[in-house]
Amino acid sequence: MIEVKNLTKYYGDFLAVNSINFKINKGEIVGLLGPNGAGKSTTIRMLTGFYTPTQGEIYINDISVRDNPIKVKSFIGYIPESSPLYNDMVVYDYLGFVAKIQNVPIDKISERIDFVVEKCGLVEVVYKKIGELSKGYRQRTGLAHAIIHNPQILILDEPTSGLDPNQIIEIRELIKELGKEKTVLLSSHILSEVEATCSRVIIINRGNIVADGDTSELLKGFTDIDRFIIKIKTSDNNDKIQNLLMMNGAKILINEGELKEIIISLPKKENIEEVIYKKIKDTDWILYEFRKEEQSLENLFKELTMEDKNG
Ligand code: ADP
Repeated sequence: MIEVKNLTKYYGDFLAVNSINFKINKGEIVGLLGPNGAGKSTTIRMLTGFYTPTQGEIYINDISVRDNPIKVKSFIGYIPESSPLYNDMVVYDYLGFVAKIQNVPIDKISERIDFVVEKCGLVEVVYKKIGELSKGYRQRTGLAHAIIHNPQILILDEPTSGLDPNQIIEIRELIKELGKEKTVLLSSHILSEVEATCSRVIIINRGNIVADGDTSELLKGFTDIDRFIIKIKTSDNNDKIQNLLMMNGAKILINEGELKEIIISLPKKENIEEVIYKKIKDTDWILYEFRKEEQSLENLFKELTMEDKNG
C-alpha cells in the first residue's frame, strides 16, 4: 500500500533523510517514532507529495508519487503538524469547502459532512467558527478534513501535539477507530503515544531507520516500567519515606534538597497512580509535584545501538 525505496532528502548539504526503506500494508497502524529533528516531517511531506525527494521512490497503491502526485493525493488524508484551518469559517462550511476541493461529488457532499461530523465527534461545534474551537476540537476538525473524501490512507504528523491529557486520549481513540478501516501512518516523538495507538513502529534517528517491528516487541522493557517523580516538603527521614512508599517490585531513590525529590520505578500496573497518591494523602507531607515521567527515546536508542554491536 505504501512502499518507500531508498528515500533520501538533502536540504542543501544537510542530509535529513538517508536512503530509508519500508513497506506498509493495508490496515496497519504504524508509528514513525523519533526525537525532534529525526526526519519524520520531512519523510511525511515526501510521502504526501509536498516535498520532492532528492533520491528514491515512493509508491502509494503501486502508483509513483513522483509520476502522479495528484492521483496519489486522492488516496491520502493528511494532517500536517499544525493544521492550517480557516479561523473565520464555520466548521460545516469549512468541511463543505474541503469536500469540493477533494472532488467529492456535489450530491454526496452533505452526506459526507454528516458522516465525518458524527465520526469525529463534531456534532456540538458544527455551527461554530473554527477560531472559537478548543485545540482538541480543532484537531478533530483536521481529522474530519483528512477523511472527507474517504481516503484509504491517513497520514498524521504529530496528531496530539499541543493537546491536554484528556484531548490526547480522545484523539488516540479516534485514530484507533479510524484505523479499523484505513491504513494509518502517524509520527510522534513520544514512546507512550506510539505504544497506545500503533501495532507497528518504525524508529528513525538522524534520518536513518534504526528499528522497525511489532510495537510491543520493540518497546518491551521500556514501556513496562513506570517512573514517578514526587517532590515533597517533610521532616520525615528517608527510611520512613521509603517504608511508607514501598510496594512490590518498586525501586525508590530520594534526592535531597529544599524539597525531597522521590523517584519511584515499578512494573506497570493499572491505577498505580491512585495507590501512590493515597499513600501520600495519609501523611502530613506537603506535596509540590507528582508526575509520571515519559520514557526517554534516548535510552531506547542506546539500547538499540547496543543490540547492533552485539550482533
Ligand atoms: P522531525 O519531524 O523528526 O522533527 P524534520 O523532518 O522536521 O524532523 O527535520 C529533520 C532535519 O532537517 C532537522 O535537522 C531540521 O532542522 C532539518 N530541516 C527540516 N526542514 C528544513 C528546511 N526546510 N530547510 C533546512 N533544513 C530543514
